[in-house]
Amino acid sequence: MTEDHFETRAIHAGQEPDAATGAVVPPLTLATTFAQDAVGEHRGYEYGRTANPTRDALETCLASLEGAAHGLAFASGMAAEDAVLRAVVQAGDHVVIPNDAYGGTYRLLARVHAPAGISWSAADLTDVDDLATHWPDGTRLVWVETPTNPLLTVIDIEAVAALAHGRGARVVVDNTFATPYLQQPLALGADVVVHSSTKYLGGHSDVVGGLVAVDEDELAEGIAFVQNAAGAVPSPFDCYLVLRGLKTLAVRMDRHCENARAVVELLVANPAVATVLYPGLPGHPGHAAAARQMRDFGGMVSFTLVDGEDAALKLVASTRLFTLAESLGAVESLIEHPARMTHASAANSPLACDPALVRLSVGVENVADLVDDLRDALDAVG
Ligand SMILES: *Cc1c(COP(=O)(O)O)cnc(C)c1O
Repeated sequence: MTEDHFETRAIHAGQEPDAATGAVVPPLTLATTFAQDAVGEHRGYEYGRTANPTRDALETCLASLEGAAHGLAFASGMAAEDAVLRAVVQAGDHVVIPNDAYGGTYRLLARVHAPAGISWSAADLTDVDDLATHWPDGTRLVWVETPTNPLLTVIDIEAVAALAHGRGARVVVDNTFATPYLQQPLALGADVVVHSSTKYLGGHSDVVGGLVAVDEDELAEGIAFVQNAAGAVPSPFDCYLVLRGLKTLAVRMDRHCENARAVVELLVANPAVATVLYPGLPGHPGHAAAARQMRDFGGMVSFTLVDGEDAALKLVASTRLFTLAESLGAVESLIEHPARMTHASAANSPLACDPALVRLSVGVENVADLVDDLRDALDAVG
């Protein structure tokens, strides 16, 4: 049997026409409990927290897209991250995170898991030799995010996985920015993939969710245990929305990447802009690694302004189409100020953001409209 391509699996994996009615879209099953034929004899479903048919469809589809044996859905990206941490590390273990990790990941470790006895440190994971030399004692997990939010740092998944596995540690990759369409961390050696499906996978700014993909049965069992025991599960309707988003992921990502390239071209040439952070630029320090491990460079672009924080704050308030808002990865273009918005939870920490930084989530609107909007706004601050 031949393996269907990504775009085909995104539409069909876990989504056979309904056996009872022929409905081509998996029915939204809202029931919280399922009739049993006899005590303990059921058709795979007993109670909605433990399993739900709509959630199953989403979990099966995600697993297929990440090339994993198991998919697990959660109520948010943070709930997914928390379940993975609970399943993989325990009190006394050490976790290494990127020195520009997503602010929420930093906060989860520093404020929730550290008080429970898990130690952590932030490291420059682009320098694998340095990580090997300064490997913290007791490290059981290396948390990779690539490209990172919001600095677009690229971490070589294969190199980190080889080092970590040699030292008896697991590797988790936050694949939110790349999505499985652009990057397949398990094939590069990662043990677990986590997603905020709130972003590109949902893709329409109308659902908060998280997903986990994992190949190893025992690890999947541990995460599934936390999913059921702690219960941070998504509603069936949330699962339905993410499943619907996945169908168009490939076409949306192609357009996000294409539009981002045009936006980067404008920014690089604009005198008000100091530095452009985009892995597709040949001068980006992670360009070679990104070209190796990603199909394309994604739809996220960050940049700093020559005139610093004042100009950044003015710019984010001056665009017409780019909406000033947190979050990312949906069809509409967004602009934001990480230091005061998405990454405020990392303020006054080693992971704090440059106040001159602006982050764009380039959407799938007409590219000329997007470029005009940004040019006008830059003219106003410049
Ligand atoms: C948004 C985000 C998260 C957190 O996901 P939520 O769905 O908001 O809980 C984790 N990692 C990255 C890279 C994100 O952008």
